[in-house]
Amino acid sequence: MNYPIARRAASLSPSLTLAIDSKAKQMKAEGLDVVGFGAGEPDFDTPQHIKDAAAKALADGFTKYTPSSGIPELRQAIADKFQRENGLSYKPSQVIVSCGGKHSCYNVILATCQEGDEVIIPAPYWLSYPEMVKLAGATPVILPTTDQTEFKVTPEQLLAALTPRSRLFILNSPSNPTGTVYTPEEIKALGDICVDHGVLIMSDEIYEHLVYDGAVHRGVATFSPKHQEHTIIVHGFAKAWSMTGWRLGFLAAPEPIAKAIDAVQSHSTSNPTSFAQKGGVAALNGSQAHLPGWLAEYARRRSFAWKALNAMPGITCANARGAFYLFPNISRTGLKSTEFCSRLLEQHQVAAVPGIAFGADDYIRLSYATSLANIEKGLARMEKFVASLNG
Ligand SMILES: *Cc1c(COP(=O)(O)O)cnc(C)c1O
Repeated sequence: MNYPIARRAASLSPSLTLAIDSKAKQMKAEGLDVVGFGAGEPDFDTPQHIKDAAAKALADGFTKYTPSSGIPELRQAIADKFQRENGLSYKPSQVIVSCGGKHSCYNVILATCQEGDEVIIPAPYWLSYPEMVKLAGATPVILPTTDQTEFKVTPEQLLAALTPRSRLFILNSPSNPTGTVYTPEEIKALGDICVDHGVLIMSDEIYEHLVYDGAVHRGVATFSPKHQEHTIIVHGFAKAWSMTGWRLGFLAAPEPIAKAIDAVQSHSTSNPTSFAQKGGVAALNGSQAHLPGWLAEYARRRSFAWKALNAMPGITCANARGAFYLFPNISRTGLKSTEFCSRLLEQHQVAAVPGIAFGADDYIRLSYATSLANIEKGLARMEKFVASLNG
């Protein structure tokens, strides 16, 4: 039978990340000693007090539908977090809890963008943004950047991309895949342009807490009430609390947008998992004592990997002060990113993600959310591989 596949689904790019990941898993299953730099998630376990809170909720029978935008207690805890950590006032009604930061991004785009609208996305980008924009029927407008500017878009680039159809600008700092952290001044300059031109900003701040070397994260909404009015902050529990599998995220938005997103969510997923939400309350209101240790460990791995990469012939790696990724330039090896990564995996059993998945074919993405021992082993193999290309 000729199965009907809707255009919106048929036009989606299949995920290269997943292809590499499944190949690596298959090789592992065959008994090969694969070193994985592909993971987009922390290698630490969820802190115990968060697990305990969810387990207690489950034991207490907290297993029914909740309001689709989340339980009041969690929406309040999120509003408190924005006040405490970011100096931003939101009413709980402006906060929507979702089934992950990714789900929040999707709902923002679905609720604000449609046919004829343009969404401005700096590249390298998180690979789901352009696909979500296409699913909403809108058009992604990609602004390329390189390691020469630490992968930062300039105000001039943003200004030049604006048209009467510009609806949304997507900002992700600290960045996946590059690890770039914009300075507060750079964020403000981009935010000013959006405010002046009436363009909304979706600020994906899921890596807010993962910064190193004295880098400072400052969200675009914090610069003035006008900036806040133009911004939707997307956030979640996946990264700073290592809760990727829980599927729990959140956003804060101007009231009319929050309402629209609430409607979208109420007709699609309904509420995020009830007992996971109780874990979210514990994550925000409980101890953050796990974080300094995680940050110290990430920082140690990052400086080791950054030095090792820059010591390899033909490889240069820009500084990256956030998230848990490095995004080295491989163009001088003569290979494009897909061939580089498939040969690295097949010949040296090291899994990395080709930059082409993020709109940047001269780079690869390495996640250092894995042990230092793995990083040492994997980068030693990569060095051999690169040397063989140069020789
Ligand atoms: C991990 C991630 C998210 C959210 O992930 P969830 O697991 O859906 O919470 C959002 N944006 C970026 C850039 C990410 O890397």
